Amino acid sequence: MTLKGKTAVITGSNSGIGLGIAWELARAGANVVLNSFTDREEDHALAATISAETGVSARYIQADMSNGDACRALIETAGVCDILVNNAGIQHVSPIDEFPVDKWNAIIAINLNSAYHCTAAALPMMRKAGWGRVVNIASAHGLTASPYKSAYVAAKHGVVGMTKVVALETAQEAITCNAICPGYVKTPLVEAQIPDTAKKYNMSEEEVIKKVILERQPSKQFATVEQLGGVAVFLCSEAAAQITGTTISVDGGWTAL
Ligand code: NAD
Repeated sequence: MTLKGKTAVITGSNSGIGLGIAWELARAGANVVLNSFTDREEDHALAATISAETGVSARYIQADMSNGDACRALIETAGVCDILVNNAGIQHVSPIDEFPVDKWNAIIAINLNSAYHCTAAALPMMRKAGWGRVVNIASAHGLTASPYKSAYVAAKHGVVGMTKVVALETAQEAITCNAICPGYVKTPLVEAQIPDTAKKYNMSEEEVIKKVILERQPSKQFATVEQLGGVAVFLCSEAAAQITGTTISVDGGWTAL
């Protein structure tokens, strides 16, 4: 499988799933553009490491995905975008009647609106190139719900809906748009919650993983960022050319329940 000559822009890719996907796309030969809202030496160093180890061209572009103009500027600055991975996302957990307005707005802006702005900016480039892939990182929460995650579940259901619309609008072109719906993936975001939860429930970290975090994931195992990257590479392959407007769950059976 080679994506040689293609350029992928992955939003929110200086850690976790986005970074894992960037690595796998680079290993498959695609040039990659990493992104987050920070502009630290270590962010640029990530791109340098990917480039050194895979031989592709890699760079890091700072852009705040909570800002629509910045989203569009990211794509414009990249200059070319054959593969767009809308991955940037944040979470906040609270009952809806206490949900802070600023958190609600930030989740909708980063998790949903950024996918709209980046897709709108990237599609003309894909059309010009005559080929394109939009891969949206939704969630099991794009298909089902949990209490206290109203903004996140609303945003992720929105991403799944938008995925279908973009697929229909590009159906007769060599462009596809799909959503990957991960269950729990072991990223720094999730790992950071384990010690505190263990203390709170007076459990071992092992027990927290199985009984609390992976309670709804029948496999009782985390998905990995490498697995997510592999699915993204597949969606960019020729074998996936007729897969569009759909979701692929990577959730250890969660949505089969
Ligand atoms: P993470 O915190 O490791 O990664 C989130 C990324 O988004 C980081 O690179 C962060 O810098 C970036 N980001 C946050 N705010 C941003 C902003 N304003 N502008 C630009 N970038 C910003 O978490 P993750 O688990 O890798 O999450 C990545 C995506 O996967 C998210 O959309 C998340 O909802 C989704 N997801 C994660 C899980 C999981 O279990 N980890 C499950 C389902 C879906």
